[in-house]
Amino acid sequence: MRKIMMVDLKSQYEKLKTDIDAAVLEVIDTTAFINGPAVNKFQKNLETYLNVKHVIPCANGTDALQVSMMALGLKPGDEVITSSFTFIATAEVIALLGLTPVLVDVDPETFNIDPKAIERAITSKTKAIVPVHLFGQVADMEEIMAIANKHNLSVIEDNCQAIGADYFFKDGSKKKAGTISIIGCTSFFPSKNLGCYGDGGAVFTNDDDIATKLRQIVNHGMTVRYYHDMIGVNSRLDSIQAAILDIKLKHLDEYAAKRNKAADYYDKAFAGNPKLKTPVRSKKSNHVFHQYTLVTSGIDRFKMQEFLNTKGIPAMIYYPVPLHLQKAYLDPRYKEGDFPVTEKLCNSVISLPMHTELDDEQLQHIISSVLEFINQ
Ligand SMILES: *Cc1c(COP(=O)(O)O)cnc(C)c1O
Repeated sequence: MRKIMMVDLKSQYEKLKTDIDAAVLEVIDTTAFINGPAVNKFQKNLETYLNVKHVIPCANGTDALQVSMMALGLKPGDEVITSSFTFIATAEVIALLGLTPVLVDVDPETFNIDPKAIERAITSKTKAIVPVHLFGQVADMEEIMAIANKHNLSVIEDNCQAIGADYFFKDGSKKKAGTISIIGCTSFFPSKNLGCYGDGGAVFTNDDDIATKLRQIVNHGMTVRYYHDMIGVNSRLDSIQAAILDIKLKHLDEYAAKRNKAADYYDKAFAGNPKLKTPVRSKKSNHVFHQYTLVTSGIDRFKMQEFLNTKGIPAMIYYPVPLHLQKAYLDPRYKEGDFPVTEKLCNSVISLPMHTELDDEQLQHIISSVLEFINQ
């Protein structure tokens, strides 16, 4: 049996090796390392895939979030509502820009931001909402957009974990995750569903003016070379990463199908188990399974993690600490108990290996080891 990993990038690479090696060597040969033709080609192909007017590549997902907030002109003191159950980057950029993060709890089924809680958190200072499409499933965007429109707020989708997922509207139409609101952000961190071989990220928008602003901001606030109309940052996707991403983009739907196949396998094995709650699949979105996350009850998941490790199986806890209890983000506005769903999830979730290369033998070994621990 091949070694089991949380994400098996090596096995995935081996299948694309000829194409990827040639694409990387071509960039080196042309020495167009920054803003070379590979970047433009990937950008156009991603625009087509997502059916979005503009993709603005940048250096990573955290920057994507930051430049989005800058492009919306958010100012210190403005309140930005986001989920208490997410990766730190979401709140980090809000705080770095001097904006005020306002946290709200999540839905216990989808782990995504609870629209009703958003509405309760809105004040006269609220300017934006940042839903996170956590673990590969799209937040309830139809509800969120209705709330945002009612209160005249901007929405930035943190789509770092759900690229390629579809969201289904009540009228039967659908849109790709990250293209529903004014701005969507993604990360091409190697372990993400569309990952490069280093760092990378992108912002999506259908708004021409916002796109122009974003292109300026990621390029030092520059329109004409060496004329700076606004304060910007330096945030680029390099050509080698773009060339790799362009190849992997062609496989993104097939990768999502492979992740779903592994998830189905796990679901079937753990269905009805009183100690393990399998991921709930929202009817409003398909799931691209960035993570396969179980909610445990009545077991010590750290012991389970240790037990699995002794069987050669990695398992991870995403995320062990809610944002409002992170040391750097302690705030007199919040205390333990304020976000009961998030806190319960942080105390009970565990994620199993999930990637595009899991085979039946590996899945069987993972499942029988999990059940062995549960039933001991
Ligand atoms: C990965 C991730 C980010 C940050 O992306 P980087 O490319 O690592 O900067 C932001 N938000 C979420 C939800 C993520 O999963």
